[in-house]
Amino acid sequence: MTQHCDILLEGGVVVTMDDARRVIERGVVAVRGNRIAAVGTQAELSGWRAQRIVDCSGQAVIPGLIDSHNHLFQVAGRGLGDGMALWQWLSEFMLPRAAGIRPQEAVAAVRVGALEAMSSGTTTIIDNHYAPNDTAATLQVAGALHDMGLRGAVARGVFGPFTDIARDNHLSPLLFQNSTRHEIDSMRECLAEWHSDRVQIWPSPINVIYNDQDLVQGLVQLADEFDVRWQTHCSEAAIDPEIYQQAYGLRPFIWMEKEGLLGHRASFAHAIWLDDAEIECSGARQCGIAHNPMSNQYLASGAMRLRDARAAGATVGMGADGAAGHLMDMFQIMRQMVYVQRLHTLDPEASFAEEAFELATRGGAQLAGLDAGCLEQGRLADIAVVSLRGAHMAPCFNPVANLVYCASGRDVTLTMVDGRVVYENGRATLVDQDEIVHEAHAQCKGLIERLDIPTRRRPSAPVR
Ligand SMILES: [Zn+2]
Repeated sequence: MTQHCDILLEGGVVVTMDDARRVIERGVVAVRGNRIAAVGTQAELSGWRAQRIVDCSGQAVIPGLIDSHNHLFQVAGRGLGDGMALWQWLSEFMLPRAAGIRPQEAVAAVRVGALEAMSSGTTTIIDNHYAPNDTAATLQVAGALHDMGLRGAVARGVFGPFTDIARDNHLSPLLFQNSTRHEIDSMRECLAEWHSDRVQIWPSPINVIYNDQDLVQGLVQLADEFDVRWQTHCSEAAIDPEIYQQAYGLRPFIWMEKEGLLGHRASFAHAIWLDDAEIECSGARQCGIAHNPMSNQYLASGAMRLRDARAAGATVGMGADGAAGHLMDMFQIMRQMVYVQRLHTLDPEASFAEEAFELATRGGAQLAGLDAGCLEQGRLADIAVVSLRGAHMAPCFNPVANLVYCASGRDVTLTMVDGRVVYENGRATLVDQDEIVHEAHAQCKGLIERLDIPTRRRPSAPVR
């Protein structure tokens, strides 16, 4: 019987990530509207007809990759702020610059970052956007993601009052300008004014460690009220739970547990330095953890307890966490996750390519509450097509291993979000990518000059 759809992705190696983890050699994915209509072998789908057929032979067809934690505006400082650990990086580099960035500069950086992500197979981004974070700028950033055709959320990062922990640890007061009341009202305004079928706005107390406790509670209540998720940073640096304990007499996850803030709506960027009781809480409450192995290496933050967190029941997704110092290429981030876990535990079985691929697809979808992350009938049609033709991909015995260990975002030939092709053969389809790149150069150059940000490190001492 003939069946009709809009697009057939035909002849590729289909890595479904369905419950059976089927990999179909010479498979077909049928897309109708914004959903996957069917997945199977060419024989199984021989009766399907489409308005458009995309020849995917010699390529892998995979679920679109999900970046569970990013700060796209940080692209504005690409290549700068090198060689600092988290608190120094925040106090001396990122936060003073964030306080000075203008909306048009942030949006230019967000757009070029989003372009980089979509061109490397990312279909969903949770963009933790905190500068500038007034209502107008927040809606502009959400609009930029929407207009580029992406899915995701702008997790609006909120600083609130200047806390003792922030002051004692030398964070710039410039971003901590608003009262809890003011921030809750602004957050409510953003949530009420924004409407999109693909991009949400989430509340995001920027960091449980140095946010005011009332602010954290108020923002979590707003997430419940508007039926959206919320995200924060927690225990990224080794000292974080210690300074929290000194200030409040208990560890941060234990405080959130006591206050009833933990649950499936919550996702925590990093959550590296959790003790056993905190791991237990994060799992029992089915919290999300956005794991950022590239950033954790770059800032020398540490290696998260991946195996423990997943065994306890936490939902782990994977993120890029800004691109001031590195790429947003989820393929690179996937393999770094495996390497970090193995090096940290000195155990070659600590993690595998299959686990990395799972976190970047199914894990991210679960963390964000999306009906995506695998290719099966009825799911959202968020898909990437990746060339297997390069020398670095030959031979290909285990497609998932090749994708994780050998592929790069530059192998992506097509990215589809919500059933619509948003990137194909080197070009974004809905926006002018040359204009986006040009504008990023121009706006970010202006920012760096205005804020007098050094672009060269002092030379290190010569080796004798
Ligand atoms: Zn972050």
